[in-house]
Amino acid sequence: MAIRASAGARPATGKRLVGVPRFGQTAGMNTGEIRGWHYATREPVRLRWRDGRITSLAAAPAPPPPGLWLAPALVDLQVNGYAGVDFQQDGLGLDDLLAAVRGLRAAGCTRFLLTLITDEWPRLTARLRHLRAVRSRSPELQSAIAGWHVEGPFLSAEPGFHGAHDPALMFDPRPRHIRELRALAAGDPLLLTLAPERRGALEAIRLAVSLGMKVSLGHTNAGAERLDAAGAAGATGFTHLGNACPRELDRHDNLLWRVLDAPGRLTVSLIPDRIHVSPPLFRLVHRVQPEGAVYYTTDAMAAAGAPPGRYPLGRLELEVGADQIVRPPGQTHFAGSALRPGDGVFRAAEMLRGDWQEAWRRFSETPARFIGWESGLAPGRPAHFCALRLTEAAQLVELSVVGGVSCGRVPRRGSARRN
Ligand SMILES: [Zn+2]
Repeated sequence: MAIRASAGARPATGKRLVGVPRFGQTAGMNTGEIRGWHYATREPVRLRWRDGRITSLAAAPAPPPPGLWLAPALVDLQVNGYAGVDFQQDGLGLDDLLAAVRGLRAAGCTRFLLTLITDEWPRLTARLRHLRAVRSRSPELQSAIAGWHVEGPFLSAEPGFHGAHDPALMFDPRPRHIRELRALAAGDPLLLTLAPERRGALEAIRLAVSLGMKVSLGHTNAGAERLDAAGAAGATGFTHLGNACPRELDRHDNLLWRVLDAPGRLTVSLIPDRIHVSPPLFRLVHRVQPEGAVYYTTDAMAAAGAPPGRYPLGRLELEVGADQIVRPPGQTHFAGSALRPGDGVFRAAEMLRGDWQEAWRRFSETPARFIGWESGLAPGRPAHFCALRLTEAAQLVELSVVGGVSCGRVPRRGSARRN
């Protein structure tokens, strides 16, 4: 399935904007009007927006074209890289970040948490400082890189649980680390993934939450009691459930059972690419978790939105084939994904044998609520939305994005390393 586009709306000229915004128009996004079928109510609506906010949502005076849908833009809380750009590299420049941001936008995602993974602490923190400085030079980056996700280094070093993170670089969190992250990110949204079995982790969770951070558990083999204690300390999420654990698990007691045995205690993220979580497990998680306690993320690395080839993820070099599976060369385990957000929605719907609209909500409004952002198609909400054209069989034909700040086309890059 192809996502063909990203673009903005037509500049406000006094004319009505009806139907899908023309491709290639990127200016004047701040004011406009569009008609389509509301993805949640499934009613025909006319949506107006001004200065980046939805100003009205009313019944459409005439039915919009069939198959033209309006939905909030996608929100991805875990993006390690995109469009050939690896966020774990030092010295990324404005053009690198713009390429990634525009690539994500083309796939329906206007806001994301730029994710930094385990590294030596001074390097990780220097990277965060540097990326924040680069972001401050561009309103487009400020709008799209809406916060930070620090995944590591306070993770489990156990085989199978550390995933693509280097266990040699992991260590126990101390209050000064949490305070340092908070200071570096200033007031930005900050999500921290950690393993609660680490010494000092519960104290770290309490401190992080008191400083306005969100804490998600992940890359962990914590026992049930420790998971309970982490929840009581203020952790609210579980990062990419079904991954960052060994391929073979004890049938009587394993991390999946422990998390799912307390439905809704944690809001879990899933990578909906059909590869990281098997379709049966994917369906089971949805049956067990209450509504609103599952959201999707790509956990994308540089290969997402880029051609097959070899790409860096921090110090690793990973290979991505035509099957879009990301692996260390010559090995069988997965590391990161090459999933594009818009594709994730439709793969999730396919796995669930359900409506794409439900899947879309789990990749837009649900993660937004989890991190504390406004989302949704309603007056007063940010005018970040997608216009989708679908076939009668719910195949995506075209996707356009309205909202945020967009200043240019998706640049073509050839940064894949090929051998
Ligand atoms: Zn991970």
